[in-house]
Amino acid sequence: MVDKECIFCRIAGGEIPSSTIYEDEDFRVILDLGPASKGHALILPKEHYRDLCELDHTIAAKVLPLAGRLGAAMKKALGCSGFNVVQNNGEDAGQTVFHFHVHVIPRYKDGAKIAAWEPQKADPEQLSRLSSSIKEAME
Ligand code: 5GP
Ligand code: ZN
Repeated sequence: MVDKECIFCRIAGGEIPSSTIYEDEDFRVILDLGPASKGHALILPKEHYRDLCELDHTIAAKVLPLAGRLGAAMKKALGCSGFNVVQNNGEDAGQTVFHFHVHVIPRYKDGAKIAAWEPQKADPEQLSRLSSSIKEAME
């Protein structure tokens, strides 16, 4: 399914031009217009899925191999020493475009800082409660 109102559906379908790095029957990979670092790319499925919870499993199985291939190409082409694979689900998690996508962000020695979380101290009792309740919800 494609959503005519969705910007990433329109980009993935080629209706809106983009800096395309890669395309096949399932995906278009483009450069991000607001990059966290030089070469920041987005993997867009051509079909519309709101987030990871909705993503088709066959498409999901192809996403990480593609991200790895893209990261390896970035290391070769851009000279980055590593890369982050980031995927946001939901507004509070930083998702701003509600069409599933994966960020592949090249990282350079002494390059731009990218916000990470501050580790908190885990409470063993709370860990036990949390693991039980999530485990139950997965059944
Ligand atoms: P999110 O915050 O949803 O995980 O990521 C959305 C990303 O899409 C952002 O990094 C933003 O810069 C990028 N973006 C939003 N609109 C466009 C667009 O029209 N073209 C491209 N290439 N990137 C976009
Ligand atoms: Zn879409």
